Formats: sequence, C-alpha cells, structure tokens
Amino acid sequence: MKKILVTGGAGFIGSHLCAKLVNEGHDVLCVDNYFTGSRRNLESLISNSSVEIMRHDVTFPLYVEVDEIYNLACPASPIHYQHDPVQTTKTSVLGAINMLGLAKRLRCPILQSSTSEVYGDPEVHPQTEQYWGRVNVAGPRACYDEGKRCAETLFFDYHRQHRLPIRVARIFNTYGPNMHPQDGRVVSNFIVQALQNEPITIYGEGQQTRSFCYVDDLVEGLVRLMNVQGDVPTPVNLGNPTETTILELAQLVLDLTGSRSELVRRPLPVDDPKQRCPDIAKARDLLRWAPKTPLEAGLKRTIAYFEALLSSGAGEVRQ
Ligand code: NAD
Ligand code: UDP
Ligand code: UDP
Repeated sequence: MKKILVTGGAGFIGSHLCAKLVNEGHDVLCVDNYFTGSRRNLESLISNSSVEIMRHDVTFPLYVEVDEIYNLACPASPIHYQHDPVQTTKTSVLGAINMLGLAKRLRCPILQSSTSEVYGDPEVHPQTEQYWGRVNVAGPRACYDEGKRCAETLFFDYHRQHRLPIRVARIFNTYGPNMHPQDGRVVSNFIVQALQNEPITIYGEGQQTRSFCYVDDLVEGLVRLMNVQGDVPTPVNLGNPTETTILELAQLVLDLTGSRSELVRRPLPVDDPKQRCPDIAKARDLLRWAPKTPLEAGLKRTIAYFEALLSSGAGEVRQ
C-alpha cells in the first residue's frame, strides 16, 4: 500500500479521489488551501487514521515523503478562477513547478489534472489529444487555460529532461456530489435554481454543447491512468463522449426535479466555447476505460446531494 499525496483534495473531484484511494487501502495526504474546497467534503474521511489533511498553498514549496502525487489544486469554475486571475495562473504554474520538484526529489509518479480548456473554443470536433487548441491568450479565461497549458509543458519537459514518470489527464466537464453550490457551473446552477423554483439561467441561446461525466467514472479514469505500467508521455482525454446542449440539460433537470422554474436568457460569457466533446479512443485503448453512468442517473444522485445540502442550511456558506 502506498502513501499518496492529493493536492486540491478538499475540492469536488479531489474529495472523491481521496475517498477512493483510502477505500483501496492507501494512506492519503490531502493538501489544500480551502480556496474553493471545504472540510465538509472530507467529513467522512476526517477521523480516518489513513488520512492526513494539511492546509497548504501549492504556490509555496512542499517537503513531504510520499510514493505518488495527484496534482489537482486549482479553482475550476469560471467565476472562481476569474476571481483572482493572477493567483489562478500562479497556482497552475508555480504549483506544477513545486509538485514536479517534489516528484523529482522523490523519483515518484505524478499525475496532472489538466483540462479540456487547453483546446479553448475548438474548431476540431470531437477533440483528440493531437489537436493543439484555440485559446484567446488575452481573454478572461486565459488565466485558467494558459496556466494549465504551461503546467502541461512543464510536465512534458520534466519528463524529457529529468525522466520523471508523468501522467497528464485532460479532464472534460465533470459533475456530481460535492460540487460547490455557488461555483456558477452549469450543473450546480441549474440544480440549485430548480430546487428553489428560481429561474434557470440559460446563457446565450443554449445551443452550445458540453459532455458531462459523472465524478465516480472520472476518478476511476484518473486512478487507472496513474496505474498504467510504463511511460505515458502524452496527454489522455478523460470525459464523457455523449454531447448535450445546455437547453437539453435544463429540460432534464426540470424533469428530474419536478420544478416549476421558468427558463430565462442571460448574455453568453466572453470566449464561451460553442462545442465540447472528447474523443476518448486513447483512454479506451490504454486504460480500458469509458464512462458508465448515464446523465440521468448521475443527475439524480447530484440532485439528492444538493437537496440534502440546501435543507441542512449549508448551501450558502461552506467553509
Ligand atoms: P474545485 O475548485 O472543487 O477543487 C480545487 C481544489 O483546489 C479546491 O479544494 C481548492 O481549495 C484547491 N486549491 C485551489 N488553489 C489552491 C492552492 N493554491 N493551493 C492548494 N490548494 C488549492 O475544482 P474541481 O472541479 O474539483 O477540479 C479539480 C481539478 O480538476 C482542477 O485542477 C481542475 O482544473 C481540474 N478539472 C476539473 C474539471 C471539472 O469539470 N470539474 C474539468 C477539467 C479539469
Ligand atoms: N520543491 C518542493 N519540494 C521538494 C523539492 C522541490 O516543493 O521536495 C520545489 C522547490 O521550490 C523548487 C521546485 O520544486 O524550486 C522545483 O524543483 P527542481 O528541483 O526542479 O528545481 P530547482 O530546485 O533547481 O529550482
Ligand atoms: N451556462 C449556462 N447557465 C449557467 C451556467 C453556465 O447556460 O447558469 C453555460 C455556459 O455559458 C457554458 C456551459 O453552460 O456554455 C458550461 O458552463 P460551465 O461554467 O459549467 O463550464 P465551462 O464553460 O467551463 O465548460
């Protein structure tokens, strides 16, 4: 059994990853500065003797002893990563340098949670790992997209220059329990709005698409990628190849919640990608992985989570 560092472990995806690794019998060191994550996400793990939680900002060096590193620390929703864009870039770039430096000293495998945002507003559809992307370097999303692109560059250079065993997962839109209720992402917004019978906010015409992956499937993909034998010197897309328009998602959430909410239009955010869908051929081949959870089933579990959160009164302030 290994000692595994998860940065960003108190966040949405990180908390599920910590739980899975503990269930598999590993010791987990969870590092987080609680910018968007919360101790509530780790409630079921806090008293577990296999888990150690450390408040730390990955833009500063970290000297610990572990066997494996998953680097997830970074705000992921547009309103959170645009809140302090300079800090967002620092988190991706300095965080990557520090965690790669740590992995280099320990000679241990390190996995980077990259993103479909490296493809920007893509002209290639679905997106394969070979596609170089179309990111507006000067736009409001660039702090996240370019920070993640630079982090990937660092990962591939540490691999070439220092022979470090790296993994780079390009994660597409993921949803599920432990999402932050005010993170502005479409799944959390629509569910919270529907449960409160408030208007469902459709940005633009709602014809833009995303491909939504349930968090358990995604975390399974991350662990499989980490455990591949041998070198993986290329990025790997992880996401659900079933594409949905934002209007279809709104309708599904309305149906599943039985909500009386009406749909309202809001302006489309600057640089909002029109279409996004992963080509997961590489993950299928390399990891024998594909998402299993249908959107409806995953949404039901996510709705149950938000119902419980809102009725506990914890939906407003979660720190
Ligand atoms: P999240 O905001 O819930 O989790 C990020 C975690 O990182 C939070 O707990 C936050 O407090 C922590 N963090 C932020 N800055 C930090 C810093 N400087 N030092 C230490 N901790 C810090 O987001 P998430 O959805 O769980 O995303 C996790 C990772 O997956 C991120 O790297 C994100 O870019 C990537 N990702 C997520 C999605 C998605 O759809 N959720 C898609 C693509 C990529
Ligand atoms: N680092 C760290 N923990 C370690 C080793 C390194 O946080 O156990 C950080 C340290 O801040 C360093 C960075 O990782 O600056 C990059 O390390 P590397 O060895 O690649 O470069 P250098 O030490 O030459 O800057
Ligand atoms: N969106 C929307 N209403 C909302 C929140 C988001 O129509 O209340 C749209 C948004 O414009 C985008 C899509 O849903 O086209 C996904 O947005 P999200 O912020 O969840 O993820 P990202 O744009 O980073 O993929």
